[in-house]
Amino acid sequence: MSLTTIHERIGTACAKWGRRASTVTLVAVSKKQPQDRISAVYDAGHRDFGENYVQEAQQHWSGIKTADGRLCLHMTGPLQTNKVEEAIKLFDVIHTLDRPKLAKALSAAQEKYSKRLPCFIQVNIGDEPQKSGIDIKALDDFYKQCRDEYGLDITGLMCIPPVDRPPAPYYCLLAKKADQLKLQNLSMGMSQDLEQAIAAGATHVRIGSALFGERINA
Ligand SMILES: *Cc1c(COP(=O)(O)O)cnc(C)c1O
Repeated sequence: MSLTTIHERIGTACAKWGRRASTVTLVAVSKKQPQDRISAVYDAGHRDFGENYVQEAQQHWSGIKTADGRLCLHMTGPLQTNKVEEAIKLFDVIHTLDRPKLAKALSAAQEKYSKRLPCFIQVNIGDEPQKSGIDIKALDDFYKQCRDEYGLDITGLMCIPPVDRPPAPYYCLLAKKADQLKLQNLSMGMSQDLEQAIAAGATHVRIGSALFGERINA
């Protein structure tokens, strides 16, 4: 599927709910994609890309990043605390702030590099034991801790709903929590379900395989 097709899907979904397409950022998740497919999307003018692994992101983007001030890199994978400094140097947005230990490490790294990145708190919206994300019951306290104790710029909430169930109720629940906390942004929706996410208010959809094709070694 091409970039144009994904923009059409976003445009159609936005029109249905009376939203402007410009209120939704397409994050092109380029993890585990061959360089030629990434280059094709970049050459078409797209500038928001998501990566799940710091080292792979450096391979894909380090060279381009220094030369292109418009490139916006989104960290969309689980972030280990020992990778935080490298992440702060390369990325522009963190979508996966999911635990106090990471909040503390981000805070220290931001101080060290005098750089403050917008962060999404990842919520374990389906309460799944194997999944990352802060427990929904702990969200309010975690948000306050991130903001007040660690001075992080919390821009919104992010989730990955359970794979085996309809996603819409989870997207609505995340939107409700963001509303309660007065957070503006919602990072939710992937290749299969971006329409449902936009219906529930997504501001950032994270699209990999529908845009680039199947991942290699995925
Ligand atoms: C891989 C990944 C995506 C992209 O998934 P697709 O189904 O290929 O669109 C989106 N978000 C996160 C957090 C991911 O890890």
